[in-house]
Amino acid sequence: ESLTVAELAKKLYREPSEIIKKLFLLGVMATINQSLDKDAIELIAGEYGVEVEEEIKIDITDLENYFVEEEGANLVERPAVVTIIGHVDHGKTTLLDSIRNTKVTSGEAGGITQHIGAYQVVEKDKKITFLDTPGHAAFTTMRARGARITDITILVVAADDGVKPQTVEAISHAKAAEVPIIVAVNKMDKEAANPERVMQELTEHGLVSEAWGGETIFVPISALKGEGIDTLLEMILLVAEVEEYKANPKRNAVGTVIEAQLDKGRGSVATLLVQNGTLKIGDPIVVGNTFGRVRAMVNDLGRRVKEAGPSTPVEVTGLSDVPQAGDRFVVLNDEKTARQVGESRAQQAVLAQRGEKSRVTLETLFEQMKQGELKDLNLIVKADVQGSAEALGASLQKIEVEGVKVKIIHSAVGAITESDISLAAASNAIVIGFNVRPDVNAKRAAEAESVDVRLHRIIYKVLEEIETAMKGMLDPEF
Ligand code: GDP
Repeated sequence: ESLTVAELAKKLYREPSEIIKKLFLLGVMATINQSLDKDAIELIAGEYGVEVEEEIKIDITDLENYFVEEEGANLVERPAVVTIIGHVDHGKTTLLDSIRNTKVTSGEAGGITQHIGAYQVVEKDKKITFLDTPGHAAFTTMRARGARITDITILVVAADDGVKPQTVEAISHAKAAEVPIIVAVNKMDKEAANPERVMQELTEHGLVSEAWGGETIFVPISALKGEGIDTLLEMILLVAEVEEYKANPKRNAVGTVIEAQLDKGRGSVATLLVQNGTLKIGDPIVVGNTFGRVRAMVNDLGRRVKEAGPSTPVEVTGLSDVPQAGDRFVVLNDEKTARQVGESRAQQAVLAQRGEKSRVTLETLFEQMKQGELKDLNLIVKADVQGSAEALGASLQKIEVEGVKVKIIHSAVGAITESDISLAAASNAIVIGFNVRPDVNAKRAAEAESVDVRLHRIIYKVLEEIETAMKGMLDPEF
């Protein structure tokens, strides 16, 4: 079994030059047409996390395989992608509008802002991309579909209202996604504004202001009056600088669908966020379970563009069908392969719908633990009163079986909601209701997403159930 460098590069979806460089670093001098022995192939494949079996098989229908992180000279800085979250009426939409109005129109003469689901602004010569759908629900729904697109979240908290249930929920969602949070203390123009109270209340949720010796950036703003917006944008740039978001504009584009619909005149229209590479007119593309060729691209200013680099949102036409928000897209080298991958993904999707999803349930927990697939058991705890939520959380966190620990990713008072279910789906978590039940929507969502929901009235029963499941002694529930 041997492969040339060029053949191996193709199988790994890499440039041959990159493979040659890797080989060189491993002490092997090779040219593009040189045959490699099994050991060298295994070594290189291992570098990309690919296991060599009889022959190197990469599932070309699994779009995640095209999202490999890379390193090297082709990487350049890319704009941060930001989502705005927070309690209802605290000013998320106003903030998004305010940022767009103050930043986009200036200097972009003739541009008419278009709502395509995301937009870009320029601050200090650097771009920032904002997702236009505020709230953590959209964010987590996408994550449940495997998409990781947000780099930074802005948590909006109204200074006259303070921390509310959805603020806490938003924090849990951002933390579960491991996305840095910047706090925008909004409505500072109001008489009743009390930013200290917001700071105080947020410390209880692990967000301690830098002014108080913590690590969270707080920016006082008035979204309505456009005050503090520049500072907020500067803080985003600061976080971006620390996190060093990078991408390779020279590779084939990969990314995620922000939104999509069927347009009477134009057919399938999808806003794609390019996450790596550069998307070009004419590119053969697979998007979720559909495919096509990029016919036309329009940016957030309504202008036709020929290409879109990393972190750029563009509205694309030319797909054979309408994909879903959160679907991944990849550009392939030829249209024939794109069609083949798209069609086989569509078939797989039909089959998968009939089959089962592989979410964690208490019954399958032990199996997953044994196979080392599970390091933390993620739990969401909803209870009737704060005291029980806390007591239950504290006791649950003490359980540890065979190196697997319990992690409470969200804990709150109230009925189990749809948002809890989507967080559970995105984070592979089990939901525990203590003296509370799922509401109608949550019930439906839990069934659709195969999320395991456990309802209890006695604390030790919960602990017993979780511990027993972790030890693999739970009888299947039928
Ligand atoms: P969302 O539900 O979080 O998107 O909140 P909205 O952006 O819709 O804002 C809710 C209400 O708060 C609207 O009436 C806004 O005009 C108002 N609002 C938003 N930001 C500010 C602000 O900075 N100051 C004042 N006084 N009102 C604001």
